[in-house]
Amino acid sequence: MVYLASGDRYQQMEYRRCGDSGLKLPAVSLGLWHNFGDATLIENSRQLLRHAFDLGITHFDIANNYGPPPGSAERNFGRLLQEDFLPYRDELIISTKAGYTMWDGPYGDWGSRKYLIASLDQSLRRMGLDYVDIFYHHRPDPETPLKETMRALDHIVRQGKALYVGLSNYPAELARQAIGILNDLGTPCLIHQPKYSMFERWVEDELLTVLQQEGVGSIAFSPLAGGQLTDRYLNGIPADSRAASGSRFLNPDQITDEKLAKVRKLNAMAISRGQKLSQMALAWVLRGDKVTSVLIGASKTSQLDDAVGMLSNRQFSEEECAGIDAILNS
Ligand code: NDP
Repeated sequence: MVYLASGDRYQQMEYRRCGDSGLKLPAVSLGLWHNFGDATLIENSRQLLRHAFDLGITHFDIANNYGPPPGSAERNFGRLLQEDFLPYRDELIISTKAGYTMWDGPYGDWGSRKYLIASLDQSLRRMGLDYVDIFYHHRPDPETPLKETMRALDHIVRQGKALYVGLSNYPAELARQAIGILNDLGTPCLIHQPKYSMFERWVEDELLTVLQQEGVGSIAFSPLAGGQLTDRYLNGIPADSRAASGSRFLNPDQITDEKLAKVRKLNAMAISRGQKLSQMALAWVLRGDKVTSVLIGASKTSQLDDAVGMLSNRQFSEEECAGIDAILNS
């Protein structure tokens, strides 16, 4: 059936300015790392995208290597874009990345100009797009000169193949240097994409302050720690969960008793706040306004409802923040 987006899709969502740029991102963005490769039924992926957009989630985040197999998430997204979203292209922010292993040989990985430009060309072909809204360097390359990587990003913007560029997984000092180079080139860095959740707080040391000082936005990936910061695993490991899927990024051994004890306490606190743990975990990442958007994954449309439902209960008292710190440090 032809997709007609919900007429009230812009009613619930909050759109937040990304650093000092002109671009606003939805407070909740959807990542296509899981549930969009060839192993997933395309109709499930379609429902997720439609439901997300109906909720005002205008930002879809992909990378060259998402699948499995690598490239298939972009290809499947491209198909859904053609079938459902072409009338809405100008209402969407589509991101992709290069930086991890994508093809054999010395030119399919890391951060050379050769790799980044060829990879984005491949991504555009897979998605059937002329340009992406944001193109990221996915991870720092210890061997390629930072200037070469940043010049490649600048070139890509000048070619019109990306409107903005971003960095992902860069530590604070390297991010500061990269942002400086991009500024000098005249292509400001729009955004940084680090991992950030209650279970992974490294960005609080320095990175978020650097980004704020530099006027660069931030989008926190895996804010639910892959599902651990939800009620998913409170009563064992459900057969349809990521931990049961054979993922090398989340396996049953990682759901330890120690972690579960913390999750149970956090869950009780979320209930006392009148929300689900997943909602409290997302609201917590957005507290203090240093993070522009939370970048979630979803296998079910109800998970998108949960995430967007969080927006009506986002405030934390000092006692609550201290209580969460105490649980996490216990
Ligand atoms: P999350 O931490 O949000 O985990 C998402 C998973 O949590 C879902 O797939 C689902 O798993 C479970 N979940 C979500 N909502 C709920 C809910 N309400 N109740 C119960 N379980 C829930 O993020 P991801 O780890 O998926 O990463 C998000 C995105 O971040 C990726 O798609 C990608 O775009 C980006 N990313 C970027 C990286 C980078 O290096 N730049 C690296 C990794 C991710 P289940 O299958 O069990 O239902």
